[in-house]
Amino acid sequence: MIIIMRHGASKEQIRKVLDFIKLKNRQPHMSKGETHTVIGAVGEACIDPREFELLEGVKEVIKVSSSYKLASRVFQQEDSVVEVNGEKFGANNIGLIAGPCTIESEEQIFACAKEMSESNVKIIRGGAFKPRTSPYSFQGLGLEGLKLIRAAADKYNLAITSEVMEISQIPMFLDYVDILQVGARNMQNFNLLKELSKINKPVILKRGLSATINEWLMAAEYILAGGNRQVILCERGIRTFEVATRNTLDLCAIPVIKKLSHLPIIVDPSHGTGLRDKVVPMSLASTAAGCDGLIIEVHNNPECALCDGAQSLYPEQFRQLYKQLKQLAPVVNKTIR
Ligand code: PEP
Ligand code: MN
Repeated sequence: MIIIMRHGASKEQIRKVLDFIKLKNRQPHMSKGETHTVIGAVGEACIDPREFELLEGVKEVIKVSSSYKLASRVFQQEDSVVEVNGEKFGANNIGLIAGPCTIESEEQIFACAKEMSESNVKIIRGGAFKPRTSPYSFQGLGLEGLKLIRAAADKYNLAITSEVMEISQIPMFLDYVDILQVGARNMQNFNLLKELSKINKPVILKRGLSATINEWLMAAEYILAGGNRQVILCERGIRTFEVATRNTLDLCAIPVIKKLSHLPIIVDPSHGTGLRDKVVPMSLASTAAGCDGLIIEVHNNPECALCDGAQSLYPEQFRQLYKQLKQLAPVVNKTIR
């Protein structure tokens, strides 16, 4: 249930609504908009909306039938903006994240970090724990990898995003990583999401391989419900009958999400297509469709990459793409730093 307060409702009136929500065994979540304060009452307890309509200062009570509430545009009309290392995702900002699929060695990650810093990138990606389909594929360097990417990122003033695979890894990630990424295969790992709801760092929530948009927003709701408002959604392609590309990049998800939710949505055209030559056109298409950011695999030497070389751009290709994105963004009222 969502309670919209009247324009100019007093602090005291708002406090009374919050107290009443608690009395009814629900958790209050407040969103201060430009004109109205909106309060979400989240929880399982059954309550009668009329009881809230009677409270002073209340303009309107909306019973939300969708199961996500805090992720909904009804709860918050303004776009959420997540900012990391000066890079903004959301509203009219397009944030960029780029780097290799995985951290392979000291030499590789330092070379990639140098390339990224020379390409206007402020956030580097790189997996240390890799969810590989085959147990015989390279599984990542683990903690050692996180230490290497931190050292490389610090040298070049970059922030880091990396994939966290299980609850026990969270403290380690908090020490080394700036944005925690939940991979497609873990989108519905609800225990992991609940723990990530308690941290004070942004989370990139990738769309599950066969997740509907509703399921994806419900997964985001888990993170928001526990108190972490810094959620970035990431469209990374879904499974369809089409096999010409690794996945089918669902760009319709951008306008659909923008209507349903205030959360920023970024696109991963690397996993979305699986092929380097498709990454540039789909990055431009994502931008034209209104995405709030891009996460792109770039490798200093893709032919020798231990993972996803075929979908990784050459640094020079990324720099060209950056120039094109800078030109395109203003056409859709967006800016790229
Ligand atoms: C990744 O970003 O390296 C990754 C494994 O992505 P996804 O979870 O989308 O497959
Ligand atoms: Mn990859």
